[in-house]
Amino acid sequence: MQKKGRQKGQENVNMAVEVISKGENRAQFLITDTHFSVVNALRRAIITGVKTIAIDDVIIYNNTSTMYDEILAHRLGLIPIKTIPELERSKKEVVFTLKEIGPKIVHSGDLKSSDPDIVPVYDDMVIVPLKLGESIDLEAKTKFGDGNEHTKFTPAHVFYHFYPKIDITKENVKNASQIAEKCPVNILEAEDGKLSVKKGQLSRCILCGACEDFAGKDIIRVSSDNKKIVFEIESWGQLSLKQIVDEALDLLMEEAEAVKESIIK
Ligand code: SF4
Repeated sequence: MQKKGRQKGQENVNMAVEVISKGENRAQFLITDTHFSVVNALRRAIITGVKTIAIDDVIIYNNTSTMYDEILAHRLGLIPIKTIPELERSKKEVVFTLKEIGPKIVHSGDLKSSDPDIVPVYDDMVIVPLKLGESIDLEAKTKFGDGNEHTKFTPAHVFYHFYPKIDITKENVKNASQIAEKCPVNILEAEDGKLSVKKGQLSRCILCGACEDFAGKDIIRVSSDNKKIVFEIESWGQLSLKQIVDEALDLLMEEAEAVKESIIK
């Protein structure tokens, strides 16, 4: 699947996007014929501009666990919370309560929400272990925010790299399997002394150069094609991949419009 960008007076406005892989929370795209600054703008918009819900204000009534109040509050803030963007306009406050007595391991799933739709993304994140007789009793208020304010609001892990180029100049080498074992992402294979990149796995190369360092440039050469960019995104679960990318692109468009208008004035 490949989508071409529009031609607009300039021959070089011809960006194309191809989906390499796409799951529920993780996707990898191949973006060609663009400058990395464009891709970086999208990455930054996702990391710093897309809003999510997170715990922001914790009132601790009781805490006899071994964890300091501040650390407990910090851990609560980092729990990804399912986010409904429309809720921001309604200004509805969502509050979690947590009242537990040990012995038990307190998990994110033990948080009780005032809104059944706004709950932790994962139920099994450990908050604090309680020994016999230890207890906690707290209230945690949430709010909308973005990564500019605090990284706990960031909706995804996003990064990009140039498309790898691997030239295997000598296929039949004595230590082919040792070279393949050096690859941290396991995309090289050795069969009957013949070294190759596994079919369909080239885009997963992280350009670390470990194979080249070990084998030498006369056997394997690693470089990159700077006109092709692999863009990867992994949602923390507060929002879907589509919501994250849509929202980030809207933000970029708004900012571009603002610049355009202020220059025309
Ligand atoms: S450069 Fe690194 S990731 Fe890429 S094939 Fe070589 S060892 Fe593997």
